[in-house]
Amino acid sequence: MIPSQFKQNTIKSFKYVRDDMEQLREHVRTLTINYNYTVQRLLSLEKAYARLRNEQKVEVPVKTEVFVASAKGDKYHKTNCPFAKNIKFPRRFETGVEASNQGFSSCSCVI
Ligand SMILES: [Zn+2]
Repeated sequence: MIPSQFKQNTIKSFKYVRDDMEQLREHVRTLTINYNYTVQRLLSLEKAYARLRNEQKVEVPVKTEVFVASAKGDKYHKTNCPFAKNIKFPRRFETGVEASNQGFSSCSCVI
């Protein structure tokens, strides 16, 4: 009886071990799937982030220099020039060339 009981117990123990290993294998499978999913998600997020950064670079407006002139005057100024601040209804130019094409010459503040 004792050897037979021992044999049965041993067989039972091996079954438990087999079940545990099967469960572990299932856990590893699930973890691997989750890991792969997470890596894929991370990669696509990195791509999206890079794309957003590039779009932002493109969309950053180029700061254009603005010059102002009085319609009555003959000089154009930078906006921070003291003369510019006295102009009530300034005409605006993005470039000095644009201002001089319209007959204005540069104030000393421009140089
Ligand atoms: Zn000026």
